[in-house]
Amino acid sequence: MLNRQGRPTAAGDAADTATPETFTGHKGLDLNEPLIFEIGRTDRSGVDVPVPPRVTSRLGGLERLAPIELPGLSEPEAVRHYTRLSRKNYAIDMGLFPLGSCTMKHNPRLNEKMARLPGFADIHPLQPQDTVQGALELIDLVAHWLMTLTGMPAVAMSPKAGAHGELCGLMAIRAAHEARGDARKVVLCPESAHGTNPATAAFCGYKVEDIPATADGRVDLAALKSRLGPDVAAIMLTNPNTCGLFERDIIEIAEATHAAGAYFYCDGANFNAIVGKVRPGDLGIDAMHINLHKTFSTPHGGGGPGAGPVVFSEALAPFAPLPYVHKAHGRFELVEHRGEGDEHFASQTFGRMVAFHGQMGMFVRAASYMLSHGADGLMQAAEDAVLNANYILARLKDVMSPAFAGPCMHEALFDDGFLKDTGVTTLDFAKAMIDEGYHPMTMYFPLVVHGAMLIEPTETESKAALDEFIMAMRALAAAARRGEKERFTGAPHFAPVQRLDETRAARQPVLTYKAPTQMQAAQ
Ligand SMILES: *Cc1c(COP(=O)(O)O)cnc(C)c1O
Repeated sequence: MLNRQGRPTAAGDAADTATPETFTGHKGLDLNEPLIFEIGRTDRSGVDVPVPPRVTSRLGGLERLAPIELPGLSEPEAVRHYTRLSRKNYAIDMGLFPLGSCTMKHNPRLNEKMARLPGFADIHPLQPQDTVQGALELIDLVAHWLMTLTGMPAVAMSPKAGAHGELCGLMAIRAAHEARGDARKVVLCPESAHGTNPATAAFCGYKVEDIPATADGRVDLAALKSRLGPDVAAIMLTNPNTCGLFERDIIEIAEATHAAGAYFYCDGANFNAIVGKVRPGDLGIDAMHINLHKTFSTPHGGGGPGAGPVVFSEALAPFAPLPYVHKAHGRFELVEHRGEGDEHFASQTFGRMVAFHGQMGMFVRAASYMLSHGADGLMQAAEDAVLNANYILARLKDVMSPAFAGPCMHEALFDDGFLKDTGVTTLDFAKAMIDEGYHPMTMYFPLVVHGAMLIEPTETESKAALDEFIMAMRALAAAARRGEKERFTGAPHFAPVQRLDETRAARQPVLTYKAPTQMQAAQ
């Protein structure tokens, strides 16, 4: 039996029999790459290390009993292995990345240059504060921009991602309720919410209840109002929401929430669409995380790092986490303990979420982005993001099926209505996009739309790049309607591997390598 080690498509399994197989398994200059365990040898090393002198072990019986079995490669072999693997990655620097809700933005090279300055890159979080005044000033600068852009009086910089920011916000909300002796148990989330919202609320010990959506993709205000009551701690709402629509009733939602004694948490992951246009503070929001890695360009493809600062209203500012940067007598200091700094901010803090002060590298990139764009440039980025999404919506709406009528914000949402009776699913369509050289859009999310396809181009894509994407999407939609089912169900035909069992890969990941002999022994 072939030792596949979690790779479902071996050379020769190709669904596409029209393409001749090569002797090497390579496809032209797209080189096949085995696992390092299959090409490396445990008796070989890329470096010459002198044989260590014999010493008496002081490990008290804890020494390793068998060789570690790391595969060794020569330097050129190691370089080639990782370079070949890196070429299998699709990246925002290679092509359009239409993932909706994720906001895969171009990250200006200037940001990278700034983040590599030794004064930012080579410092240590335990360094004396006098030696890192510039870094603390930069954290304070980003905090100032975030408070100004959101119209909120306070911000916690330490949360390390959007979901972490949600947790920060809900912990502050819980602390605020507890300080009033009012331990409420329920958090309300709209049906269209990002999965992290209900997950965070549940993680925080709350019971999560759904609020239905209306036919036009927005929160059902009447349903929300009728559910609000003395047991509701907070509502969590995204605006613009994950259908790419602005919640028009947001002020009424905020008023009703406050009247019921609850707090209004806003998921600010889509802040990209409204920067410079709307200040969440003016909408009655009590806490909102901002994904620096979605709105202020810092890179996040491949899982991080991100940064999720949380802005707070007056009501919640006293419950914010430690530590934070505070300016006093012309000097920046880190407030690490309750009662040390500001009279108001974090005076009744819920505590600390992270060991240190947040994602410094992301702060530098965000500051570089903010300062190089300026306030007017940030606003233009939001306008261009909305314009680009609407261009895509307008140019695809006759061949694909928009989920809702009317214009969108920063992302265009389609359902699978246009694929009806073609035998092609949203998944098949997405796989065919890979053959055309595109990373698929977000699919099957938000859940309120059947077979959802959520497309977000971001502001940096040129009209030419959008036109090429639109051409590919129109051609695929036409092919599906013409009955070219195999183009889709067999896709991707040109990727290194064909259909993967993504669910099994996520549920039963194969994370350790077993040599074929071990595999046989185990069978
Ligand atoms: C990305 C996103 C999140 C989570 O942010 P992470 O940084 O990935 O944890 C939450 N809500 C929405 C709407 C998002 O798009």
